[in-house]
Amino acid sequence: MIEYENLHHLNKPLFDEYTQAFREVMESGWYILGKKTEEFEKQYAAYCQAEHCIGVANGLDALTLALRAFNFPKGSEVIVPSNTYIATILSIVQNDLRPVLVEPDIHSYNIDPAGIEAAITPATRAIMVVHLYGKLCEMDKIMDIAKKHNLKVIEDGAQSHGATFKNKVSGSFGDYGAHSFYPTKNLGAMGDAGAVTTNDAELATTIRTLRNYGSKVKYYNERVGVNSRLDELQSALLLVKLRYLDKINEHKRRLAALYLENLKSDFIKPMVHPDYKDVYHIFNIRHPKRDDLKAYMLKHEVKTDIHYPVAPVDQEAMKGILDGQSTPVAREIHRTTLSLPISYYHSESDIHRVIEVMNAF
Ligand SMILES: *Cc1c(COP(=O)(O)O)cnc(C)c1O
Repeated sequence: MIEYENLHHLNKPLFDEYTQAFREVMESGWYILGKKTEEFEKQYAAYCQAEHCIGVANGLDALTLALRAFNFPKGSEVIVPSNTYIATILSIVQNDLRPVLVEPDIHSYNIDPAGIEAAITPATRAIMVVHLYGKLCEMDKIMDIAKKHNLKVIEDGAQSHGATFKNKVSGSFGDYGAHSFYPTKNLGAMGDAGAVTTNDAELATTIRTLRNYGSKVKYYNERVGVNSRLDELQSALLLVKLRYLDKINEHKRRLAALYLENLKSDFIKPMVHPDYKDVYHIFNIRHPKRDDLKAYMLKHEVKTDIHYPVAPVDQEAMKGILDGQSTPVAREIHRTTLSLPISYYHSESDIHRVIEVMNAF
């Protein structure tokens, strides 16, 4: 059986270094917001070509706190892609703001800049872009639109650690980059973890304050904050994995190249363009008989996944929130998309086997 993902196999090459990192934290006697977190923040900021990085508890908190920092009036509109993972939309809802869905481009699966411009109203305050599957959005056009309309930009970089567009890296374009280190992500921890990056010192201080009970000086609270701190253990493990991130991304790109070159043309493959260096957090194809294909592959011992089976507009939880927003492009993607195995631990021969099964479908 070729699994879709196996976190034990994924992390196994790092076990010795992880054990050493764990021992250091255990013996330090300091478990939250200490030297390891500081060091990780410093190194990850540098990796993201950003001045500041603030560790938080998870990716959803990174998005939620980034929005909260701006104190937008209740009910303000925030533009978000219609085919994103639910977290991006939840971060808007949690701040009492209104998500306005914009459809993706059907080739890149990322938010369509022309759609953004058409969705802007006097109530619009921000654009949340999502670099889905590990490909960056068209950030040059999007930043131009944001400047023209005086909108804040937050990048959801949960799937795009290290991906670039015109040689600029994920999380370095907008006012804030929001990052998740959920275990399956390209830069995954061994538990929940996240971070916010920014080039603005004041915006960095705001996130530092919000993540720690709204307090800059212990026991003095300036804002209604939350507890969303990054712990030393996850930081220590992330410092180890960060050293492998480029290697992980490179491996995934090599596997993606095999799919791109060898899968028959019945399958709609991801867009490839020289402006983009993708990191393939997910390698998806589309096919009108997606469910049959998935079942066929399982029968031939290849597990796949779907990102995501249900479009946000069709989610039970979004009733009363996204009502009346029509997103046929997102629905079509959700109906036809299939994610293929592309983990750091998969070998080239694993991928050749997946291709063989698929091409016989
Ligand atoms: C994983 C993910 C998140 C949420 O990250 P968590 O760390 O699980 O909270 C947000 N947005 C996207 C696009 C994601 O893939």
